[in-house]
Amino acid sequence: MKNIPELLSPAGSLDKLKIAILYGADAVYCGGQKFGLRTASDNFTEAELREGVLFAHERNSKVYVVLNGFLHDEDLEELPSFLRLLEEIKVDAVIVSDLGVIETVKNNCNVPVHLSTQASCLNTESARFWKSKGVERVVLGREVTLKEAKKIKEEADIEVEVFVHGSMCMAYSGNCTISNYTQGRDSNRGGCAHSCRFEYSIDYKGGAQTKSTFMSSKDLEGVALLPEFVHSGVDSIKVEGRMKGPHYAGTITKIYADALKELSLEGEISKESLAYYDSELMKVTHRDYSSASLGAPAGADSIYNEREHDEKEYEVSGVVADLVEGEFILLEVRHAFYVGDELELLPFKGKSQPFRASSVLNFIGEVREKTKPGELVKIPWISGAEKLNLVRRRLAL
Ligand code: SF4
Repeated sequence: MKNIPELLSPAGSLDKLKIAILYGADAVYCGGQKFGLRTASDNFTEAELREGVLFAHERNSKVYVVLNGFLHDEDLEELPSFLRLLEEIKVDAVIVSDLGVIETVKNNCNVPVHLSTQASCLNTESARFWKSKGVERVVLGREVTLKEAKKIKEEADIEVEVFVHGSMCMAYSGNCTISNYTQGRDSNRGGCAHSCRFEYSIDYKGGAQTKSTFMSSKDLEGVALLPEFVHSGVDSIKVEGRMKGPHYAGTITKIYADALKELSLEGEISKESLAYYDSELMKVTHRDYSSASLGAPAGADSIYNEREHDEKEYEVSGVVADLVEGEFILLEVRHAFYVGDELELLPFKGKSQPFRASSVLNFIGEVREKTKPGELVKIPWISGAEKLNLVRRRLAL
């Protein structure tokens, strides 16, 4: 099948950038220390940005840097020098929501501009306008259906990116100030506290009162709709989640990369594969899944009827830091596990491989019964393991 879109994954840190790329991302997006919308994310230092771009380009992947906060004059003063750095290190695009920022980018560097979903581009005229301002790609608002995305792409003749997976925002793609009022945190300058996920009391006229999570959206998930993404001709499909961990970055990227590959080779995704991808989707932290507005505008069934409550079946036990083929794996422990625990290796290619940690040694060869987060341990060799593979553990349910 032709016209397979780019798979764009979140990279909340250098670690996650490498993991996403090795698990199949064609491109990743990340933020510098300022100007983005994720102040709580481990945003990249200058040295990390340089290393990340080099790592991506050596593997034919791209790096886009988010500058999608709504900036005030004081923020704009520092932007030109950052833009010159991004150009020097050959970042592939910047993701922008504000007209003033677009002007500043155009006046200071030649880095391509992608319009952030924060700008809520929902129609062809809007896409044409942004194109006239020098924007090369629009990341459409999550309220747009795939049918509408196809029309915008064809009629505005511009690159189009559409969200395929991740947390949703009940406001028009972030145009929201609930966190400003409830937490004193500015959503449009990176401070969203997910206030929409909380439970609220509603007073009806006449005194009746009820508690509800009426603004709390389910997570977006679009694996089964990938053939329709291809049919729509969109250029890029985006996974949300820079704040989520390496397990999410690796697992979700691999699911979509494998599904797109199957689609390009076979022209369809088999029922067996869909069932496998569904089971993998359950392993990462998630809320109930929904296809939101991809098929038709999202309705009441896209709201999560409970207080913030994430489901997860697995947690990441460690990341392969190094290995000696045929002998041992050096694992950087992320969550504690015991010797004898049933674990699972997530290889870059092929299905996950269950194994038992039959012995665990610390770095100086002492036997360990229980590991600690942050330490390096040796476990026996697992065939097919590679550096930066994830190792995970099923949680007792
Ligand atoms: S509080 Fe909720 S609706 Fe508002 S910006 Fe954050 S995620 Fe979106």
